[in-house]
Order: sequence, then C-alpha cells, then structure tokens
Amino acid sequence: MLTILQLPVLNDNYIYLLHDPDSGESAVVDPAVAQPVLAVLEQNNWQLTMILNTHHHSDHVGGNLELKQKTGCTVIAAQVDQNRIPGIDSFVADGDLITLGKYSAKVISTPGHTSGHVVYHFANENALFCGDTLFVMGCGRLFEGTAEQMWQSFQKLKALPLSTRIYCAHEYTQINGRFALTIEPDNQQLKQRMVLINQLRDKHLPTVPSTLQQELATNPFFREDSLDVQENLKMKGSQPVAVFAEIRRLKDSF
Ligand code: ZN
Ligand code: FE
Repeated sequence: MLTILQLPVLNDNYIYLLHDPDSGESAVVDPAVAQPVLAVLEQNNWQLTMILNTHHHSDHVGGNLELKQKTGCTVIAAQVDQNRIPGIDSFVADGDLITLGKYSAKVISTPGHTSGHVVYHFANENALFCGDTLFVMGCGRLFEGTAEQMWQSFQKLKALPLSTRIYCAHEYTQINGRFALTIEPDNQQLKQRMVLINQLRDKHLPTVPSTLQQELATNPFFREDSLDVQENLKMKGSQPVAVFAEIRRLKDSF
C-alpha cells in the first residue's frame, strides 16, 4: 500500500509525504517548508524521490530548493508555471501520468485559484491531492482565474469516483462549514457534519482527508445545481456556473 503521511505546518497548511515501501521511493506534495519533511524522511530512513507541486504560491513551494539540494529529488510541476516554480525539473500538463514506484497519478489541470494549478489523482489508491482548488466544504480563492474556469475545474473533480479521498492543502474546514450553513441552513448532512468537524477541531485534530461523496453532499461549490441552494440564493433556474459564481462572491466577503 502507498503510505500517506500528513504533516501540519505553518498556520493551517498540510504537506503530504507519500512512500512506496517496495521501491523505496518517496514523494512530497506541496512542501511549504523543508525542515519537517527532512525530519520525517530521516526518522523513517526514506529517500525523497520527487516533489509534486500543485501551484506556485510560496506556502506550497517554500521548501522546494532546500529539499532538492539536500536530497537530490526531482521537482515536478505544471509546464505553464515553469518560470515561477523554484527548482522545477520536469513539466506536466493535463492528462499526464507521473509514477512513484508501482503507483501512478494522473495530472488534472484545474485553473481558477491560479492559472497553472494542477491536481494529482492516484486512481488506484483513491487519493486526490488537490492543493488550493478544492477544500473540505470550500474552494480556493480566484486569484488568477474566473468563476467559470473554477467551475469547469470542479466539474472535472466531480466526475471522479465517490470514494476518492480529498487531500487538500489547508485546514479551512470549520470556517468553510460555517459559510456553507449560510447557503444551505437546512442541509441535514451539513449540520451533522459540522457537529463532527467542531468536535475534531476542539481536539486540534485534522478534518482532512474528506471524501468526494462527503463533499458532494455538503460543499456548496459542488451544490450549485441543487434546487435548495438556488432557491436560497433566489436564483432558481439560473445557469449552474452563475450560481457557482455567486457562491464564490459571497464567500469572498464572508
Ligand atoms: Zn494557493
Ligand atoms: Fe495555499
């Protein structure tokens, strides 16, 4: 089995360390910082093979150069971001496959948060590393893209298997859930989920990973086609993308 370790760093970031015990290869997704990654590698006597970046923001690439220098790993990121990913060695684009030992991940381009944002889908492991595109009950801010682009990106993620585990890059769940309740105050699954989320956060435990199935039921950015949502926003019969854009606009000022 592919080992997946979750490292909480900075205020609310998650770094993911992936390890294939058979080949001995390891990858790290979005190393915001290097030291905690180096410490885990050393504890486990793992060799870092590659860095997988989802996008160019410093809280996702801050550890790239130090990790590359200390481990000799390869930095993999989107081709369109080649001039702004520190240490980039290997370029990927939508549909490419990357391999870690006997495991492989498909690259899915998800513009919206940034123009070059990609996510990594390990289909056989049911694991999606989605950076700042999709959060538990939320969605990344539109820094370099339109709501239409982000909506298109969400449609790609919506098509993945329901059991896909959602490994996002930030612990934003509690605030996202509070916002979700303003969009859908009568969503019973959302209300039940928030009780569990609040219990986890009271104990400082992570709420990530989630599953796509949970997100489809509770994440307002996956629910723009729900009649309840459209009614609550007084947008009955509107195009789903327009509803999505309105939810994104409301979240910006929440
Ligand atoms: Zn970001
Ligand atoms: Fe981020």
